Amino acid sequence: MGSELALLGGPKAVQSDPGDIFRWPIVTKEVEDAVLEVLRAGKMSGLDVTEEFEKEFAEWLGVKYALGHNTGTAALHSAMFGIGIGHGDEIICPSITYWASCLQVFSLGGTVVFADIDPDTLCIDPKDIEQRITPRTKAIMVVHYLGMPADMDAIMKIAEEHDLKVIEDVSHAHGALYKGRKVGTFGDAAGFSLMSGKSMPCGEGGIMTTNDKRIYERAIAFGHYARHNQLTLEDLKAGAGLPWGGYKYRMNQLTSAMCRIQLRYYPKLMEEIDRAMNYFWDLLEGVPGIRSHRPPKGSGTTKGGWYAPHGIYRSEELGGLSIHRFCEAVRAEGAPCTPGCNRALHLHPVFNTIDIYRQGKPTRIANSPPGVDVRQPPGSLPVSEGIQERVFSVPWFKHYRPEIIEEYAEAFRKVAENYEELLPGDVKKGGPLGGWGMTRMISHP
Ligand SMILES: *Cc1c(COP(=O)(O)O)cnc(C)c1O
Repeated sequence: MGSELALLGGPKAVQSDPGDIFRWPIVTKEVEDAVLEVLRAGKMSGLDVTEEFEKEFAEWLGVKYALGHNTGTAALHSAMFGIGIGHGDEIICPSITYWASCLQVFSLGGTVVFADIDPDTLCIDPKDIEQRITPRTKAIMVVHYLGMPADMDAIMKIAEEHDLKVIEDVSHAHGALYKGRKVGTFGDAAGFSLMSGKSMPCGEGGIMTTNDKRIYERAIAFGHYARHNQLTLEDLKAGAGLPWGGYKYRMNQLTSAMCRIQLRYYPKLMEEIDRAMNYFWDLLEGVPGIRSHRPPKGSGTTKGGWYAPHGIYRSEELGGLSIHRFCEAVRAEGAPCTPGCNRALHLHPVFNTIDIYRQGKPTRIANSPPGVDVRQPPGSLPVSEGIQERVFSVPWFKHYRPEIIEEYAEAFRKVAENYEELLPGDVKKGGPLGGWGMTRMISHP
């Protein structure tokens, strides 16, 4: 009898045309009209549309202030400045994230200390935060990674006990709930990416949110000189007219126009994505070697728009089958599957050896007191360093179409259940895993 597996000559699990189930972003006529209106009026650099969007976004999230930015990177940079990070300060950030969760801290004269992640949530491990705290620690950067809300109860408790600020990077988790409450509302400030690959895709853009007037106004002072007439705090008004950071972070109104439409339809879309993705994982419940990366049902915790969904891989349940071979076989079935995720930042030369500002030392330690070296060599964050072999991307369904989803789930089930046939040809190698950016890795053909 021949093999069932497509990689070994069997029929593919995925036979149907997926149609637009993966298409992203969804650009409707309404989006086109909104963008064209701004374009035709020549209002790309104005503020009126952006301010409308900010108001609507703040209301949707349930916070007082929202400030539009030209990227999520800029929004997080402003949040860092907003909470007062400056020379010699340290932030604690998970090593497994996109670089824009922390790299901007260098330009503020600060540095980053990485914490390990939890192998199941893939978010910062609260148990690893405390030992990273020093007298110089100013803030914890929380990333709700791949849509999964981080353990905010534990993190906020640590922050309170040590008098630390908290910034939430919500670039993967727009609309996700932690115990019934939207992520991005727990910390002192939050930053969201709105670039086209993310779950609220609006072009290139970002937004910073806070309930704190001083943080909000400091962010305006930092990168929004054209809005300095909105400053009310006297010490900030004294420096009005020029952006303190030397940055210009204004949002393009082609983006804010698109954002307004996206936001209006987002709750409904999110609900459909959530239903589709949970259906996919329900079909794979109990299959050996693979686990969903999602919150427990009934916990009130959700994944929002499920940006870049991944699964957890346990090769020990599949006779040691390598993740390369596993994904290769899934792809042969017709389903997208890439091993790995964002690479561990603490191992990159920019965080170890590069002297960006010619201070005569690696930038990572250039502003630390003499004798203090916060760099973290290989071996120091074991979960982060081993995670590439333990996660794989899964299809990101934007619509609930059970027949299609079933075929894709079958691709994963078939490979996992027939793993023994794959062991003989497993060379356990396939190049370095993961990448420094995620959006290209997860895009579907
Ligand atoms: C995408 C992303 C950002 C930055 O957003 P941009 O809009 O691309 O600048 C920040 N943090 C994380 C975790 C991201 O994935």
